[in-house]
Amino acid sequence: MNIPALFAEIHASLPNVNTGRVADYIPELSKIDPTKFGVHATTVDGRQFSYGDAAEGFSIQSIAKVLSLTMAYQRLDQNLWKRVGVEPSGTPFNSLIQLEADRGIPRNPMMNAGALVVCDVLLDYLAEPQRELLAFVRSISQDGTINYNEAVAASERANSDRHRALIEFMRSFGNIDNDTDRILNFYCHLCSLEMNCAQVSATFLFLANHGRSPLSGQQIVTGGMSKRINAIMQLTGFYDEAGEFSYRVGLPGKSGVGGGIVAVLPGNYAITVWSPPLNPKGNSEFGMAFLEEFTTRVGGSVF
Ligand code: GLN
Repeated sequence: MNIPALFAEIHASLPNVNTGRVADYIPELSKIDPTKFGVHATTVDGRQFSYGDAAEGFSIQSIAKVLSLTMAYQRLDQNLWKRVGVEPSGTPFNSLIQLEADRGIPRNPMMNAGALVVCDVLLDYLAEPQRELLAFVRSISQDGTINYNEAVAASERANSDRHRALIEFMRSFGNIDNDTDRILNFYCHLCSLEMNCAQVSATFLFLANHGRSPLSGQQIVTGGMSKRINAIMQLTGFYDEAGEFSYRVGLPGKSGVGGGIVAVLPGNYAITVWSPPLNPKGNSEFGMAFLEEFTTRVGGSVF
């Protein structure tokens, strides 16, 4: 099958789906051209398929939560689940609502509360968290050009009242150890990672390859841990739309409010799409429609 031709065909066949809105609650993200579209798939045996703006960097935002989760899971193993759960929340990504009943333990590491706990965990282990996170990402992708976008990090940092509220509320239940400003700085940098579709696919390939990066040859996590990270993405990667993404696309995946979505078929490939306008649940509208068509036409889903 000619995959780039199929990418072009699907792109052309979905002309009217682009009705979403570019995120503007982080002011820097509102500057993005809404007409951008890129897709890149990478297979575990090294094949690469690209279409559109696949080489243009974008803000990966919450996609990066999978990478911080991976680093925390490497260090704490099963003890990580004392601090954060693995259940779908059925709530928006930035919701506070369940934390009171759940006594400060976030439902999962993909919602903001859970990702902030994961950052708090990592601050206990990393002497230079921002440098070490970047080194980790560059190592698994074998790409030393990946970097933070400091303007995006500063823009989110200046608008982080809700993040602060989540941190302090969880602290009141004893589930936060570190200084709030350090957690906010680390979290906003994590979310500001800038990559293109090819780089995101390369980075996530270890989750398609039982925990081993085919690029660096390193075993990043065990096969069992890779299975569990994929399960968490499948159940929680799209917040209150995780069911919809599973139903339509049928792959473990993760979205970000920069308009990116990465999805993984274990044993086979990682695919990243980028289209900035978001649907009301904060997920790329065209990206989801594109992936739905792609996995349906090629039969490339876990179901
Ligand atoms: N940095 C964003 C936030 O915390 C990430 C959200 C997302 O991509 N869904 O609001």
